[in-house]
Amino acid sequence: MSTPEEPKDSRQKQAEKIASHPEQYKVCEGCGSIVVARAVTCPSCHAYLFDSSAPRVILQAQTLALRNPNSVLSSDLN
Ligand SMILES: [Zn+2]
Repeated sequence: MSTPEEPKDSRQKQAEKIASHPEQYKVCEGCGSIVVARAVTCPSCHAYLFDSSAPRVILQAQTLALRNPNSVLSSDLN
């Protein structure tokens, strides 16, 4: 079975990944995106102000994951 690249639960996975390594990311003050810590400007809105504090990064990761309620639960086994 080949499915197109459909990021169903990737947000949640990404959020967990970010939350486990918050020091590698930062939150864009312009649009709320989470970008890698080495980014100079935000890829989404080109802002250059970021909050790199770990609690903020983790909170934002969880917020972004929840914003997309794709309901990937028991029925979505590969
Ligand atoms: Zn941004």
